[in-house]
Amino acid sequence: MIVVMKPDATQEQINHVVALVHEYGLKDHVICGTDRTVIACLGDKRAVDKGAIENAPMVEKIVPILAPYKMASLEVKKDKTQILIGPERFPLGGTKIGVIAGPCAVESRQQILQTARQAKAAGCIGLRGGAFKPRSSPYSFQGLGKEGLKLLAEAREETQLAVVTEVIGLEQVDEVAEMADVIQIGARNMQHFPLLEAVGKSQKPVLLKRGMSATLDEFLLAAEYIINAGNPNVILCERGIRTFESYVRNTLPLAIIPALRERTHLPVVIDPSHGTGHAYMVPSMCLAAVAAGADGLILECHPDPERAASDGAQSVTPDLLKELMKKIQKVALAVDRQA
Ligand code: PEP
Ligand code: MN
Repeated sequence: MIVVMKPDATQEQINHVVALVHEYGLKDHVICGTDRTVIACLGDKRAVDKGAIENAPMVEKIVPILAPYKMASLEVKKDKTQILIGPERFPLGGTKIGVIAGPCAVESRQQILQTARQAKAAGCIGLRGGAFKPRSSPYSFQGLGKEGLKLLAEAREETQLAVVTEVIGLEQVDEVAEMADVIQIGARNMQHFPLLEAVGKSQKPVLLKRGMSATLDEFLLAAEYIINAGNPNVILCERGIRTFESYVRNTLPLAIIPALRERTHLPVVIDPSHGTGHAYMVPSMCLAAVAAGADGLILECHPDPERAASDGAQSVTPDLLKELMKKIQKVALAVDRQA
């Protein structure tokens, strides 16, 4: 980190900042320019509250040099992380694009089994489906709970797809971690730190969805919580952010793919269903995400979207999924990947 002093800072004020830097256990390297002085701070600054030094007289600003996250960053690990998921141990983060599809929520045995079979036949590697659902309204369908987990386990048994399902409360972490192949942390819980620490104690891969108003740094710091608690298997999932736009449910910033690549070794998955809110937009965004370098996709697919208990508008049909998978394969090849 670098402390930039205002142009008229006196030697006494500079000495004061240097003393503060020492108090924080850091070394100083003072550079006197023609019109201002900057103080480079050497050592581990992560425990330093930068606001505290910024408060000292005649400090103009603090410029961080290292990323605030450590284990999630490329500074610490240069090669891309591959995470083996599901009974078939699919390497997410490798050359192959992993597509995960399934309904927003598990609704019935017939619904989840039918979707699983069709997703498998289309070439997907994972089955999504919420058993515990975070809903904006307490009166909306809340999911089948434990029964939903059992149905997902049955679908995995038959198809060998990796099951991705969400945990919304601390009290469910153990049972979800035991059943799921990938534990999903939903957008609304991205900064539920005790939940991040709890899934960090498991070794099951975690699909961490970006909070709808979280910055990229906050997203990576949330991943850091999970890694820091002992679980390095974190998959980052962009699912769209809240903006002023209303033609989409959320705005899907695909530029986050190259931005994450510059900063982290963790696999990146895109959710074009929540990222748009409309089934007709999902195929284009899947192709764009793969072209932009995503490692995987997670999308909502329902055998009867018109009658879905949640998120029907953004769910593609299994027939559409089948067609889409063929196009995804073509785009993957064009960018030296496979699907
Ligand atoms: C979901 O995946 O169904 C879900 C609720 O997603 P998000 O947390 O991104 O809203
Ligand atoms: Mn949903």
